[in-house]
Amino acid sequence: MKQVVVLGCTGSIGDTTFKVLEGLGGVYQVLGLSGGRQLDKLVARARTWQPAWVCVADPGDREAVVGQLPGTKVLIGEEGLCQLASLPEADLIVNGLAGGVGLRPTLAGLAAGKVMGMANKEPIVMAGGLLLAAARAGGGQILPLDSEPNALWQCLKGEEKGSLARLILTASGGPFRGRTRAQLAGVTPEQALRHPTWKMGAKITVDSATLMNKGFEVIEASWLFGVGIDQVEVVIHPESVVHSLAEFTDGAMLAHLGRTDMVLPIQYALTHPQRRPAPLERLDLTQVGQLRFSAPDRENFPCLDLCYQAGRLGGTAPALLSGADEVAVAGFLAGEIGFLDIAELNRQVLEAHIPAPADSLEAVLEADGLGRRLAAAWIAKK
Ligand code: MG
Repeated sequence: MKQVVVLGCTGSIGDTTFKVLEGLGGVYQVLGLSGGRQLDKLVARARTWQPAWVCVADPGDREAVVGQLPGTKVLIGEEGLCQLASLPEADLIVNGLAGGVGLRPTLAGLAAGKVMGMANKEPIVMAGGLLLAAARAGGGQILPLDSEPNALWQCLKGEEKGSLARLILTASGGPFRGRTRAQLAGVTPEQALRHPTWKMGAKITVDSATLMNKGFEVIEASWLFGVGIDQVEVVIHPESVVHSLAEFTDGAMLAHLGRTDMVLPIQYALTHPQRRPAPLERLDLTQVGQLRFSAPDRENFPCLDLCYQAGRLGGTAPALLSGADEVAVAGFLAGEIGFLDIAELNRQVLEAHIPAPADSLEAVLEADGLGRRLAAAWIAKK
């Protein structure tokens, strides 16, 4: 039986991963699990799946978990995540962590030759070059779990690299598609957390509402598929039925269509190159009726172009933007800044930065930390 480790097992990616694992029956055995604040859920999951290893975020939680899970080895914090990601017996690591905290464990897993199933896009945005180098050196591999890059991975199978012309990422447009600037100024965290088509964690849901998430996907796709940032385009597609498209030199396009459910990409990553029946209703195109596509509103959702700007600058610019955005989103969710401030803060932090080469973990973490500090200072002055 193959051995899987699930990092961030209590979040929305964790929930879907376990739904997939249940459906697959005895294909995978769970070797390790990590969780953050939802300790009860972590313990319940560990009781069901009986992993040999568990990792908690906070050292203060270790004792309680050890008491509830006799016989399980309990690790702590980032160091524990790195250890889980590189366990010698592990065949696949599912990274469902949120934000930059996933960077070190991803590097550790790739350096140890692991297959990293990545739902956590910030590490790729921050340090795509370092991750690819670690994968080459250690024999590891990145499999995209998020629906858009997973769709592109499937569209590009068997195609020659030289025949690819463009990648087209679809975006639902989030809950505020079509709103004016004046309307956007007053939106609340509750409204931003109500995504029209995808159910996800808080950080990525707010990033979807600002289009920062789509911008991060542009940077991610450019690393994962080895194309320039300007070869990746974004179209708004409110139905979220087409999960992304690849256009080739002859003008032909291949698209990936399916239900708006993370079961589909996660299961494919877990079973590829095989396909297995999934616990999902079939997509009925006659029920869908129509598929609409339009250009993104770049003026009212400037975070998208901030990502293009950071991607073109390269070096430490994306890591800085990623760090700043994490603090900006937390500030918005805490009611400290408004919705439009997220983009304004990110813009000011990015424009003041002179990027350095992102050629070491230290350089990337320094830029991420600088982005966070500048964002916190911006919020404090507000
Ligand atoms: Mg996505």
